[in-house]
Amino acid sequence: MIETGDFTFDNRLVSAQETEEDTGLERGLRPLSLTEYIGQDKVKENMAIYIEAARRREGALDHVLLYGPPGLGKTTLSAIIAHEMGVNLRITTGPAIERPGDLAAILTNLSPGDVLFIDEIHRLNRAVEEILYPALEDHAIDIIVGKGPSARSLRVDLPAFTLVGATTRAGQLSAPLRDRFGIVQRLELYTPEQLTDIIRRSAQILNIPCTADGAMELARRSRGTPRIANRLLKRVRDFADVLGSGEITQEIAGKALDRLEIDELGLDSNDRRMLDMIIKGYGGGPVGLETLAAALGEEAVTLEDVCEPFLMQLGFLSRTPRGRCATQLAYQHLGYPVQVSTVQHDGQLLLDEEA
Ligand code: ADP
Repeated sequence: MIETGDFTFDNRLVSAQETEEDTGLERGLRPLSLTEYIGQDKVKENMAIYIEAARRREGALDHVLLYGPPGLGKTTLSAIIAHEMGVNLRITTGPAIERPGDLAAILTNLSPGDVLFIDEIHRLNRAVEEILYPALEDHAIDIIVGKGPSARSLRVDLPAFTLVGATTRAGQLSAPLRDRFGIVQRLELYTPEQLTDIIRRSAQILNIPCTADGAMELARRSRGTPRIANRLLKRVRDFADVLGSGEITQEIAGKALDRLEIDELGLDSNDRRMLDMIIKGYGGGPVGLETLAAALGEEAVTLEDVCEPFLMQLGFLSRTPRGRCATQLAYQHLGYPVQVSTVQHDGQLLLDEEA
């Protein structure tokens, strides 16, 4: 965890990264079927067809790569795939598989049709990846037995299985690995309406009284991310219990989130600090990601995975070949006068509204 003064990304209430607290909360809230899975309609429609086709063939589903920012439902979707295919799910992460032997042990323990979910698959090391290729293509792995001149390679057959790989950054996957996924699906940030449905479903499961307006208020401030929506629901329940009658209304939700310094669009102090830095420190940009990360005392990856997708969805940030730029909308939201700029932002010339 990186700490710079009061700037602690991993503890953010609106961080999309999973925390220990989430793990307990999420277990009960994960939808188990595609029909319960809210939003991501294109992905759902496609997966329903692929699953049905695999079931009719009585074979394993093709390997699936899911990519998109954290907290959008990649793990949930892999569990749904296993559930709908009627097979077991085995969950692991790229960095947890340190040696080829670790992966061989996992693969040889799979049953026919099983789903193996590897989160953060872009972080698999090369030696492990090499073992994965024949496993994905030929359902076999080559194990080296013995050492030195007497060493020989032994081919072990595996049952047909489905790999579901998840990554926040599809671009970092090696080409040979990416090519081995027959199904590639991108998950998008959720709309406030979809998040409202997710919050109302979670509130019902957790027995938290919540009005439609209250759910909408939480949804608007959840950065398009179900994980954050569920976390805010739980936090705001405390405010509703202490400050109100226990019911989450729009007023209680608004008050609680203001106190938690999450503004009406879902930006927290760290988002504002990032935009502030671009505007005040670098004249609105363009500024390179690495430079920005160093100035904020943050890792570039965190800015890219956690802050940027949402700021870009809001239209507050644009990525240009020369670096990141704050847009007019960001200036307005943070209360800065809009600047004259000759910089191309996503191909659009920004003009001074006041000029
Ligand atoms: P990821 O693997 O992408 O980081 P998760 O699958 O762990 O995200 O999702 C985080 C939480 O958000 C889950 O526990 C689940 O309760 C909720 N969630 C995610 N996607 C959906 C969805 N489409 N509908 C309902 N709840 C969802």
